[in-house]
Amino acid sequence: MKSSRCKAFRSAILHLLGDPGHDFPPQQQVEYLEDGVLVVENGHITQIGSADSLLGQLPADCELETFPDQLIIPGLIDTHIHYPQTDMIAAYGEQLLEWLETYTFPTEKQFSDSALAREVADFFLDELLRNGTTTALVFGTVHPASVEAFFSAAEARKLRMIAGKVMMDRNCPSDLQDTPESSYQESKALIEKWHKRGRLLYAVTPRFAPTSSPEQLTKAGQLLREYPDTYLHTHVAENPAEVAWVRELFPTSRSYLDVYQQHGLLQPRSVLAHCLHLDDTDKQCMAESGAAAAFCPSSNLFIGSGLFDLHAAKTWGMRVGLGTDVGAGTSFSLLQTFADAYKTMQLLGNKLSPYQGLYLATLGGAEALYLDDKIGNLVPGKEADFVVLNFRGTPLLERRLQHCHSIHDKLFALMMLGDDRSVAATYILGERCK
Ligand SMILES: [Zn+2]
Repeated sequence: MKSSRCKAFRSAILHLLGDPGHDFPPQQQVEYLEDGVLVVENGHITQIGSADSLLGQLPADCELETFPDQLIIPGLIDTHIHYPQTDMIAAYGEQLLEWLETYTFPTEKQFSDSALAREVADFFLDELLRNGTTTALVFGTVHPASVEAFFSAAEARKLRMIAGKVMMDRNCPSDLQDTPESSYQESKALIEKWHKRGRLLYAVTPRFAPTSSPEQLTKAGQLLREYPDTYLHTHVAENPAEVAWVRELFPTSRSYLDVYQQHGLLQPRSVLAHCLHLDDTDKQCMAESGAAAAFCPSSNLFIGSGLFDLHAAKTWGMRVGLGTDVGAGTSFSLLQTFADAYKTMQLLGNKLSPYQGLYLATLGGAEALYLDDKIGNLVPGKEADFVVLNFRGTPLLERRLQHCHSIHDKLFALMMLGDDRSVAATYILGERCK
């Protein structure tokens, strides 16, 4: 047994120190070490620098691992995903409301079964790690057992994960309905048991306005007041038919977003998936409240919901993270999700640099989740969750990269063409887990 738990990792290293914006080149916020060393002690980063400067200073018993021709980046952060939808990913032919009725609700009914929930949670978390995702904000189902299974599986892997029980008391099958009071009590019990246990955090999770009564949304707001450092996780303004339905269900609200604001659900640590059909008042409200949008381009394209205007959101000062939204999104890979984000931006006449993409998937995601003091980049003091990317993950990528001469161009090719095959290893608290 060694006296020190020092480990050092030598590789090319790339991370963001802040939002690189849309300017090019955004040098100040990008730290790239062509031959770098990352030093980890007791699960936390203690040093980062060039191999020249750090190798000579390492303690004699420090273990050194070297990754030639690979790239260390921070662990990727998925700000919106549904673990119970793992088995219904890539379901054919519907838009949001029909997709929920046809595929989602029948699948989610099965999660009253703890054993099934745990088996899916184990597969789901391993799939995240295979794709380099180390933190995610995760929907359970209406069943408390689904969240118990998820948190147990995440705890076993020492992961920093945020999750919650769906609150849903109307406009869904009767065996998926709770009540305002039962959803409050069940959420409260889960918060008491799991919130801030190890690296785990709880999100109060009303599915979306159509499936919660005003009484239930009021209860969700009560939970946030009683437990002010929990999260709020929901969907907003994803699909035009859904937006019209919310207008009928909440006729006194100015907008869909306003339904949540009226119930005290917009605050720092509120994460709203999609935000596709917001007006300027809504965007200003998002920015001023400190809430964050989860940009889920793969899902938005797959179920035909619309195009998220990232440029406008950033101009309004909104916090934005990147989400896969599996099972409406079609990949667990945030590299593939970047590729869809890039194409979405092209259709809106904007660019998305690979640095901005990496920021969204790492430090930007951490800022959206108010976890940037713990994760998101590789500065000393942060938790040592990181990913080793393989420049030769596929024959095509290896061939394309022979023609890329800057880290900008290499990163762009990696993010457009890469997927789980590009992830050579994933480390949690400095320990290899994939
Ligand atoms: Zn979703």
